[in-house]
This record gives sequence, structure tokens and C-alpha cells, in this order.
Amino acid sequence: TELAHCVEAVRRHALARPDVGFAIWHEGKLVEQWRATLAAGAEPSDDALQDALARRLADVLGEDFIRESVAVQHRSGAVTVTGRAGLPDAARSRADQQFCYVNGRFVRDKVLTHAARSAYEDVLHGHKQPVYALYIRIDPLRVDVNVHPTKIEVRFRDSREVHQAVRHAVENALAVPRAQALAAAAADTPGAAPPAAAGDQPNQPLAPVWRAQDAIKFDDRVGHKVSDLQALWGTPAPDPAAVGAPGTAAWQASLAPADAAHFAGTSGTAPAEQPAGGALAWGTAPQAAAAPLAAASEANTWPLGRAVAQIHGVYILAENAQGLIVVDMHAAHERIVYERLKAQVDGAARIASQPLLIPATFAATPEEVATAEAHGDTLGMLGLEVAPFSPKTLAVRAVPTTLAQGNPVELARSVLAELAAHDATTVVQRARNEILGTMACHGAVRANRKLTLDEMNALLRQMEVTDRSDQCNHGRPTWRQLSMKELDALFLRGR
Ligand SMILES: [Zn+2]
Repeated sequence: TELAHCVEAVRRHALARPDVGFAIWHEGKLVEQWRATLAAGAEPSDDALQDALARRLADVLGEDFIRESVAVQHRSGAVTVTGRAGLPDAARSRADQQFCYVNGRFVRDKVLTHAARSAYEDVLHGHKQPVYALYIRIDPLRVDVNVHPTKIEVRFRDSREVHQAVRHAVENALAVPRAQALAAAAADTPGAAPPAAAGDQPNQPLAPVWRAQDAIKFDDRVGHKVSDLQALWGTPAPDPAAVGAPGTAAWQASLAPADAAHFAGTSGTAPAEQPAGGALAWGTAPQAAAAPLAAASEANTWPLGRAVAQIHGVYILAENAQGLIVVDMHAAHERIVYERLKAQVDGAARIASQPLLIPATFAATPEEVATAEAHGDTLGMLGLEVAPFSPKTLAVRAVPTTLAQGNPVELARSVLAELAAHDATTVVQRARNEILGTMACHGAVRANRKLTLDEMNALLRQMEVTDRSDQCNHGRPTWRQLSMKELDALFLRGR
């Protein structure tokens, strides 16, 4: 409608000028009113401006926009990018909440929207549209604002410079595991008023969580390194004799692929062979008793909490300061393995490889043999050594160290299929993340694999420090928080 267009036009201005109050009247009725969140006149500090913008965004787009977004704060060369980027969960079917400003003016620009969307590549799949409000400041000499009669389009002198700045700004903001904000929020005094801002304060105090996010230093990369996965894999099972020593059939069975079940997000296949209930109970009992004592003080500060149970071989339950954490263990571990593989390729240009004591051979199709022969170098870069053993047999002689616990034949088969699908070397480079994602899926802990509490806790700790660990490789969430308030509501407590 006409009114909707008018409101939209005013919105765009309102999001750029928190120092100005706006009111929209329609046929004698007040439709919208947004008070100034920043005192006019004096030059505000960066923090005060960010604060005022966040409150204006909350007023105009709703509290959800703030709750489901992270602060963007990035500077590269002549370009500064601030604002807020929506979490992948907050993505919408329409691109109706994507606001870009260049030197304070609302613009619609392909370079900017492409840069922003590409920042979501690794965490948001499909056709969903991210939400964001980005404010780009750039030397006026490096941008031509007179290319469109309504000045809604711009032309950058160096569009690559701007594209990279925006992409990195949003990517960095999204990479920080959200669990870290959770911990910071818990550290806040409950019910404390937000820091006083300039001007009158007609707005309600916002949820503390986004303020905590603002406090995170986005350029401080220390502590975001992917930690050693061996902590998860290396922990002995509760009863090795019952679960089966590595290499035995029982152990292999516990890692058996359950692809169909995994992709459906359920545990539809028959559970892997489990040790007798009695043996397992005795095996875990001493540890379960010791864990709460040892962890009691420390556990309160763990953002994703202390693991308490695994249910249906799919989810890990943990207790944290806010309440209950539910983790999709395969999805979470898959992201950790994926980020580790990416880091290896970025750092050393190849994935660390480990030879198999006994090569794993399998009957291969002519296409698989041809692909293995044609892509030996690429396979080597991926940490795999796959060579013909006979005209109709391939032998896997080495696998990535990170994935050494998985099934080498399954891994080789799926990587060969990916390579055959992408073929040319240039495409392989572009499809790199896709292939690494497939490999990570094979290397990640499978549904129905029984985890010890130590293994569960190791996984939670790795999630807390792994970039993008809030989403799995396929863009699905890896964990959810159920707060005490939400749990109480389920049971109608305190009403
Ligand atoms: Zn997977």
C-alpha cells in the first residue's frame, strides 16, 4: 500500500539518524513514533553512536532484530563498517531487512549486497535472505554518489576494496561462537540497567545478551583457534573391552555410517552394538560421581555448561548458568572437524595425512578408478592416497590424520564422487569447502555412538572456541538453549 511505502521510506532515514526523532501520522492517527536515541549536536563517541543505533534499530525493526543479531565493527584501509548482522537463524524468505548506508545515505548496491550475502556462505544455505543494517564509512573521494537521479545507487572507485571490507566485517562478526556472548551475559549483574546514554531514555532496557556481544572484541582472534580434536577421540571409552578396542568389529560398528539417518536428523537406523547395560553402568559410575565435584566451580563459567547425559544417541544435554543446553552432537562435531580441515588447507596448503598400516581395498567402478588416477594431486592435498590395486580395485593407503578414526573406504568413495562431479582443477578449488564438508561429515562422530561424559565435555569445550560452531556445515543449528524461565513456563511454575 501507499502507507507501507511511506513508512518504508521514513524507516530508511530513521535508521541512519538516531539523533533525530521521527513520527508518522496517517489520517489523524499516530502510526509510528521513534524518539531520538542520541543527543543532537555534540560529536558522539563511537560506542555512544553504536549504542544509539542499536536502540533505534530495536525501535524500528523490533527487539528480535537486536536479540538475533551481532554487532559489526570492522576497519580495513579507507573503509569502516559498523552496524549489526543477523544470525543465520534470523534469515527471512524475503530480502526486506537489508539496509546499507554509505556515509550516512541509504543505498541499494550490488557490490554491498553480494559482499554481505557471501559472508553468510558458510553458515546459511539455500535461498534464505540474511537480515542486516550496515553502515559503511569511506573517503568521499573514493565513491561517486551522483550515478542515479534519486541517489540510491553509488559507484565505488575500488569496488573490490569495499566488497572485501564488508565481507570480512560480517564474516568476522558471525564467526564468534555465540556461547561466548552467553557467558558474558551470565557475568552481567542480573537486572542491571544498561549504561546511561545521551538524551532521554524512553526505551525499555534491552536484553543484556546483545550488550555482551558488543563487548566482544571482534579483532581479537586469540582463543578462536580450533583446538585439538584428539581430546574428543583420545578419551578412553567407559569399558574398552565391551565397546571393542580400535580396529575390532565392535568398534567399527560404533562408528558405522548412518548417512540416511543423519541427513534426516533422526536416528532411524538400528543402534550400533552397545555393551551390556550393566558393564556400562559400572564403567561410568565412578566418573559420573567425580565429575560434578571436580567441575562444580569451573562448570559455572563454561558457556555451554557441564554435560549431564546423551539421549537417543543423538543429543547431548548439558547444564549451564542459564538452564539447559541441547546439542546435536554430530552436527556440532562435524563443524569442528570442518573448520580444522579448512585451517589445515589454508595454513599448510594440504591436509596432514597418516598412512594406513594395512591399505583398505575396495571394488571400484571404472569411473572411480579413472578419477583416482586423474586427481592424485588433489587427493594428496586432501590428505588421501588412493591408488589402483588391480584394474577393478582401489586401495586407500593414507587418510587425513584428523579423520583417522573414520571408515577409509566410505571417505575415499565420497571424495571420489565429489571430484568426479566437479572435475576440472579450477572447479575443485571453488568446490573446496564442499569437499571438506563431505569429509568432515565422515570424520564426525556418528549418531548412536555412545560418548562418555568426558568426551561430551570435550566436545562442548571445542564448540566454545571454534568459529561458526553455532551452525553445522549444512547451515543447521548445532545447539539450543532452554533457559530456566522457559523450563519453568513448560511446567507452569511461578504463576
Ligand atoms: Zn554430517
